[in-house]
Amino acid sequence: MIAKVIIFVLIIAIIYFLIIPKFKSKKPSDSGESFVECSKCDTFVELKDSTLRNGKYICKECLK
Ligand SMILES: [Zn+2]
Repeated sequence: MIAKVIIFVLIIAIIYFLIIPKFKSKKPSDSGESFVECSKCDTFVELKDSTLRNGKYICKECLK
């Protein structure tokens, strides 16, 4: 009977350690990506997808 309780606790522990880190990694600050606001369309785009022009960031769509 005790073995069943141990297995049950182990399953809870495994679920806890597998699911909780996924929720924490959803934060943008943890992924290392930084977002900037496009000065033309006011849309937040990734820094790598934007271009710095006259001190303002412009997204790819506005550069077309
Ligand atoms: Zn834009």
